[in-house]
This record gives sequence, structure tokens and C-alpha cells, in this order.
Amino acid sequence: MQLPEITRDEQGIIQVKIAMSYPLRWVNSYVIGDSTGYSIIDPGPRSEVNEQAWQQVLQTLDIPISAIRSIVLTHHHPDHYGLSGWFQEKGDMPVWISARALAEANRSWAPGNTAAQDLVQLFASHGMPEEITSRLPDHLDSFVPQVMPQPEVSLIEPGQPLEIGGRLWETIETSGHAAGHISFYQPDQRLLFCGDAVLPQISPNISLVPGSDPSPLESYLIGLRELGQYEVELAYPGHRRPFTHFRERTEKLLLHHEERLQAMEERIREKSCTGYEVCSSLFNNELTLHQLRFAMSETLAHLVELERLGRAQRQEQNGIITFSAK
Ligand SMILES: [Zn+2]
Ligand SMILES: [Zn+2]
Repeated sequence: MQLPEITRDEQGIIQVKIAMSYPLRWVNSYVIGDSTGYSIIDPGPRSEVNEQAWQQVLQTLDIPISAIRSIVLTHHHPDHYGLSGWFQEKGDMPVWISARALAEANRSWAPGNTAAQDLVQLFASHGMPEEITSRLPDHLDSFVPQVMPQPEVSLIEPGQPLEIGGRLWETIETSGHAAGHISFYQPDQRLLFCGDAVLPQISPNISLVPGSDPSPLESYLIGLRELGQYEVELAYPGHRRPFTHFRERTEKLLLHHEERLQAMEERIREKSCTGYEVCSSLFNNELTLHQLRFAMSETLAHLVELERLGRAQRQEQNGIITFSAK
């Protein structure tokens, strides 16, 4: 197997590209520290390939597992949280995550959870055909091996600084992409690990998830405005490359969502539509089931935001919800 790409920058932060599925292709793990100890931020999804990749990476960087003092997680999505339990099994180090993110992880993966049925029910009520919803439970199940074993976690207190790789970082909790998402800010060097809260080139997915935040887009936009206030020289995102012009990126994303809200408002002004109809008309229909799940959740996040803003209203008939513009 190929050694993952490793980049060490002048701040001493090491970016490791860990493989994941299309269309993101890789997640950034960051290794930070000195010869006395290291932290790893977001180790990536668990797979045999990624276990081998990490063994090679640590060998190449000359870091024994005993020198990894902590694993730090921005959020609970499998592509970030996945390998944390595997690392802990090997090195018995603390795994840091926010309490809210832990609750999300439990909602998604604790034994006996109802995440799949809840999602099927939500999507069906918004008009997704049964031939699609019936495939969702197996699809969601396919992520479980990416997060096993699950770690024993230590809780990040949002707003309290956390030591990562020998430096103190401010912890900033925002939601919308994932409830309980934490970004880590270093005010002296003006560095920010922003996970998936802000990404370059890609608009992070905003999902309405049953049992989670009922207004994810509102939360996301609040978070963008909050993050946009920080002076950031260099942002280290969960996907793509570290980037500058962080504040401009938050402004672009704010604009993007306002445009998307307007586009959906237009759709439901022409005629009232189910969430699934709006989704099908705005996203191309060559989507994989995985992409369709994200597109549908994203559409619903926008429709409930239009409703919250008083720009749309819902009607329900025979258990199917449609939206119309106000
Ligand atoms: Zn994510
Ligand atoms: Zn991600």
C-alpha cells in the first residue's frame, strides 16, 4: 500500500491525508507536538487500509504509539472519529470530544439505537419513495465498522482551553454541520483547526437529523458569524488543503446559503412541493445513495429554516408534508 501524503508546515503541524470514500477522497488528520509527545486531531475512518497507513505514517515520522498523548476530535462523523477507539486500544491515551458530540455518537451508534428507522420515517414523511428509503438502514449500517471499537472519551468543555501538542488552544463549539462540533484556535499564532465547520471549495453539509438540532441551518449560520470574528492566519480544515482568507470563506458560505434559501423559496412559490421534490429539482439525479441522503438532509435543513423565518409554511396530508412559500 501507498504511504499517505504527509506535509509538515513551518508551524510544525503535520497534515496526513487519510483515505476515505468518494467524493471527499481524503480526510486531514493533523499530528502536532514535539519529541516529548504528540496529539492527533481527527484520525480518520477505520478500515484495514487506514490502520496500515497509520502504522506506516508513525514509523516514517518516528513516533512510537507511546508518544501519542491524546486524540482530539472536532466532531462525531465517522470520517473524523472513526479510528479514535483503535488508537486508544493500542496506546490507552485520552480521546477528547464535546459532550454534545458524544450524545450524537451515541444516537448514531450505541447498541439498540433507532437512527436508521428515524431517518427512514423522516424522509418518507417528506416524500422520498419507499424504493429509496428501504435501502437506508443497510447503508447506515455500512458505516458502523468505520467507528469500531468506540473510545472511552474525555469531555472537552467548550470555551475552556485544551492542551494539544504542547500548546493551549481555545475551544469553540458551533453546530449545523454536526452538533457539538469544536474548532480549536491558537491566538498567538492565529491558527485554527476548523474540522468541517468551514471548508475551502466545498460547502460543508448541513443536515436535518432526527433527534438532533431542529434548526441546523440557523445554528450553522450563527456559528459561521462567530468563527468569522476570529483573526485567522491559517485554517486547517477537515478536507482539502490548509487555507488563508478564513473570514472571506465564512462570508462566502453565508452568501451561498442565502442563495440556496432563495432558490428553494422560488421552487415552492411555483407550487407546493415535498422536500424530496425540492431536493430532486435542485440536485442532479446521478447521486449515489450516500450523496442523496446528504442532499435530502441539506434540503430539509433549508426548508425548515425558511419555515422558521416565516418564508414558508408546511401542509400535511396523509402523513406527507409539503411546503409552500408564504
Ligand atoms: Zn463532518
Ligand atoms: Zn468530514
